[in-house]
Amino acid sequence: MSHELRTPMHGILSFAELGIKRLETLSQEKMNQYLNNIQISGNRLLFLLNDLLDLSKLEAGKMSLDKTSVNLIDLANACINEQENQFHENGLICMLSTELSSANCHCDRNRIFQVISNIVANAIKFSPAGGKIQIELARVKGNFRVLVSDQGIGIPVGELDQIFEKFHQSERSRSHSGGTGLGLAICREIIELHEGNIWAGNNNDRGSSIMFEIPAEESLDY
Ligand code: ADP
Repeated sequence: MSHELRTPMHGILSFAELGIKRLETLSQEKMNQYLNNIQISGNRLLFLLNDLLDLSKLEAGKMSLDKTSVNLIDLANACINEQENQFHENGLICMLSTELSSANCHCDRNRIFQVISNIVANAIKFSPAGGKIQIELARVKGNFRVLVSDQGIGIPVGELDQIFEKFHQSERSRSHSGGTGLGLAICREIIELHEGNIWAGNNNDRGSSIMFEIPAEESLDY
């Protein structure tokens, strides 16, 4: 963990130091470049700290859930709408498919939204242009299952469990992930807090699927 925190911090300090040392002689263009680098590293550090704070709160059991009745179909649609720009910019299509007319869960809307968003953001990140991302929603016994499949680079079989560990980034994607490696660890904590399960698999043709199940609201008739 110290490596993850130190790298962006060193970036900030060394570009600030360089800027101060060369203040008199630096071209505007160079100065702009240094400041940009400081901003990029600063943002990375902020994301990392937010994720770490979230995770330590979750792991310590200090994250309280604000549970209400949530229709997962509406939630998945809201996620798709929110990431509309990213789909467009990356030349991707995202579709929701379900045979259910409603999928109500007693859950924390914001936290489950965070989980679906994170999984979809990964699907975007690891998909080639022209790919299709599909969100499937189904009832499986007492649970609802949300499955996000993509046609991207896939996950090495030996890493299907490890990607839910803190800071684990697959060999296959490490160089271009740009993330913190904490997103799926946070998702797992949130899903387990809802007494659910989350796991990953590879598709038969190409790409991977990340899926989770959380209990359905039992008071409803299906
Ligand atoms: P990151 O910030 O690196 O995306 P995550 O915890 O969200 O962190 O994901 C951990 C790692 O799992 C990623 O770095 C990547 O190696 C792998 N991964 C997650 N989702 C996918 C996907 N849809 N396709 C391929 N690899 C994935």
